[in-house]
Amino acid sequence: MVELQYTTLEDIEKTHTTLRNGFRSGKSKSVEYRKYQLLQLAYMVKDNTKRFEDALAADLGRPPFESHFLEINSSIMEARTAWANVDKWAKPERPPFSINATPMRPVIYKEPKGVVLIISPFNYPMWLCISPLAGAIAAGNAIVIKPSEATPHVSALFAELVPKYLDPELIAVVNGAVPETTKLLDLPWDHILYTGGGRVGRIVSTAAAKHLTPVSLELGGKSPVFIDPNCDLETAAKRILWGKVVNAGQTCVAPDYVLVPRDFQDKFVSALKEVADKFYPESTSAPGIYSRLVTPQAFNRIKGLLDNTKGSVALGGETDAATKFISPTVVKDVGVEDSLMSEEIFGPVLPIVPVKDVDEAIAFVNSHDHPLALYVFSRDATYKQKVISSTQSGAAIVNEVVIHPGIDGLPFGGIGPSGHGYHTGKYSFDMFTHLRSSMDSPSWIDKILGFRFPPYNSKSIKGASRLLKSLPPRPVGPPRLGAANGAATKWWGKWFFLAFAVAVAGGLTKRVKILGALVPGVNATRS
Ligand code: NAD
Repeated sequence: MVELQYTTLEDIEKTHTTLRNGFRSGKSKSVEYRKYQLLQLAYMVKDNTKRFEDALAADLGRPPFESHFLEINSSIMEARTAWANVDKWAKPERPPFSINATPMRPVIYKEPKGVVLIISPFNYPMWLCISPLAGAIAAGNAIVIKPSEATPHVSALFAELVPKYLDPELIAVVNGAVPETTKLLDLPWDHILYTGGGRVGRIVSTAAAKHLTPVSLELGGKSPVFIDPNCDLETAAKRILWGKVVNAGQTCVAPDYVLVPRDFQDKFVSALKEVADKFYPESTSAPGIYSRLVTPQAFNRIKGLLDNTKGSVALGGETDAATKFISPTVVKDVGVEDSLMSEEIFGPVLPIVPVKDVDEAIAFVNSHDHPLALYVFSRDATYKQKVISSTQSGAAIVNEVVIHPGIDGLPFGGIGPSGHGYHTGKYSFDMFTHLRSSMDSPSWIDKILGFRFPPYNSKSIKGASRLLKSLPPRPVGPPRLGAANGAATKWWGKWFFLAFAVAVAGGLTKRVKILGALVPGVNATRS
């Protein structure tokens, strides 16, 4: 067991000053400089893959595969994606053409916010540091990362490697627990990203408010699964059980509980048991095949929820305090007031909550906090759409679990009590970027906008009115309520559009050919 060296309160203050000066030096404004740091970040992970794998195994008892699939590879990819795209992301943007505004040369500069703080949790201690760090570097900030004290091996590795690979004038690691994080939160930052539970999220928001610091909160909550009997049962059971047992259920987007029609419960539980037998032909207590809970406190909390359930254990239920082990567990006939429904489980226990029908399931979810993820397993387009359009959640995922934060181009974030703000890929860059509006207005513009200057008279109002765009006709009757915004585009709509585009292009080609034949010298279809 490694002894994690906590940063002294004095050094925290010094680090803050060093980074503030580093940021003011202006070197991070250079995109080339950022790309260098991003590549260094990717190589920091690549060169030390085995050490990260071992640190994750020591902290979470993780099988190496889970660390590679869920953290090591995706950390390298986040740094690489930022490196490959930062030129494009950081380019100034011009707003759309406007006859009134374009002559004043409006432009949006993508500027770093300044000196930012990233506070990360224990459950994916690498990825939840490196992924936002990549975005913050790409955006040109100076950055402090504060990894979780609950994963001392990974946090110590960061403290060793970050100063070796990255510029210490701009990127630093602070290690510690509550006193050190409290000290960090006393200081002024230009943005704080906190990932963790809602209780500490409130402490972070309150501290940030004192300095009017913008905050992004990536929190958790109870992510429900809706089961339609008309689903691919084998796939559903396989994916849901995997989502629950990977990292021993310590995943913010793990399926927390399952809502299933009462008369389908036994069939669904049998399918889960079959999958469990295939996943783990040996006992999950054997080392190296299945993760452990992070701390004795985490183990005791989840064991307490399990001990107090009024449901019946249909699978697993074995525990061992000495090794912080809880086997993959399924509990059926769980009531909505059960201990397992009282808080986010964040462990490998899956409660099955029988309901009358999908309406009861929707009403239950809507009477609780908006979850970080909501899962639907169904083959029926109407069922899927009904669940998605009647609920709110950070993400709404159909026939899949857990992997959506790794899908290129999808923002990752919660809503309401599951958090606010989005990260991964370009969304991380955006989180740490200030959109600085600018314009450079020539003197001759006053020939058009001169009406704004006093003394005001009737010509002033006429001049201002000329800038107004006319409104469409007043609406007649109440609005037509159609499908929700989120309605998925019908597949045939895209094909119809494609066919239409091909037909138009074909027609144009033909016309150009005819024109080429009629007018000597015009032959646009040479190839
Ligand atoms: P944790 O215990 O590792 O704490 C997170 C961070 O908060 C740590 O760096 C810790 O030092 C700091 N902290 C703890 N107490 C503090 C205090 N009093 N003041 C200031 N800082 C303090 O992690 P956790 O909170 O147990 O994380 C689990 C939660 O995180 C779950 O709810 C999970 O769903 C959520 N989570 C969310 C995401 C996401 O992206 N939305 C990702 C992972 C985890």
